[in-house]
Amino acid sequence: MKALVVGGAGYIGSVVTRLLLAQGHDVTVLDDCSTGHADSVPTGVPFHQIDITAAGTVLAADRYDAVLHFAAKSLVGESVARPAPYWHTNVGGTRALLDAITEHHVPTLVFSSTAATYGEPDTIPITETAPTRPGNTYGATKLAVDMMITNQTTASPLAAVSLRYFNVAGAALGAGERHTTETHLIPNALRAITDTGSSGPMTIYGTDWPTPDGTPIRDYVHVLDLAHAHVQALTAAQPGHHLIANLGSGDGYSVHQVLTTIETVTGQRVPTTTGPRRAGDPARLVASNTLAQEKLGWTPQLTLTHMIEDAWAFHTDGRTIR
Ligand code: UDP
Repeated sequence: MKALVVGGAGYIGSVVTRLLLAQGHDVTVLDDCSTGHADSVPTGVPFHQIDITAAGTVLAADRYDAVLHFAAKSLVGESVARPAPYWHTNVGGTRALLDAITEHHVPTLVFSSTAATYGEPDTIPITETAPTRPGNTYGATKLAVDMMITNQTTASPLAAVSLRYFNVAGAALGAGERHTTETHLIPNALRAITDTGSSGPMTIYGTDWPTPDGTPIRDYVHVLDLAHAHVQALTAAQPGHHLIANLGSGDGYSVHQVLTTIETVTGQRVPTTTGPRRAGDPARLVASNTLAQEKLGWTPQLTLTHMIEDAWAFHTDGRTIR
């Protein structure tokens, strides 16, 4: 299969690129490197360092079987403070990409959606039929794109799959998290262990949540399991249909439980301090992954301990275990 990976120099896009290559696919990467890194694109892979709105020039030059679209602005707090660039890039950029996909008759699209489209859930685990009430601009823009894709598949033979990621962690195939602005729990905790001088203790955002230990609960999924779901989505996609599927483990871990697991894996204490709740954080997000099992044949294989072992190896010496 000939695939264009849009956002292939970012964290998840670079792991998916490597998995597609390992499985013998012909991969081209497009990324403007606004947050991704050019050196995350494996040597020998055709790489266009251009804006998503110029994707048509790449799709015009060759016949592609699929586009996998990871390119987005994804900092929740920033999205609330400065919504315009989020609507511009995430929705406007994807609109331009969809136009190019239609014009050049690319049959299949796999899109990175998010659990942030649901907002605070009424019931756990969250199924794909749960109400979508995003609590921040980031989630709202991803929901808008999901709707745009649904409309496109109604009007054309496009086969599309949106994958709603829960909390992605770990490293694989030589790639891992390298965010300049890091907001996520696991990399922040690892940084607090190793960069004691510069970064100081990690802040726990509230210990007064309505959960058993007072800290929020999330569903963590290994980036390699996530990458496999994308490959499975390419074959599961049906012309004229838009499948939206959650990708999570179905298990929830609190912030305290994650920190305890990090201390067990690393053998080191995570320096922490307690701060107020972070605006827009829900108390509890846990996925139902039944639909992904049924429609994609996907079941996650790797545990929270694997994610932390792999993130720790990548954090300490840029190595990946898997
Ligand atoms: N969290 C925290 N301190 C941090 C980063 C995150 O206490 O430095 C908490 C956050 O409040 C949430 C959980 O860890 O309950 C996961 O947050 P993350 O940003 O990793 O992912 P999110 O669930 O927001 O997508």
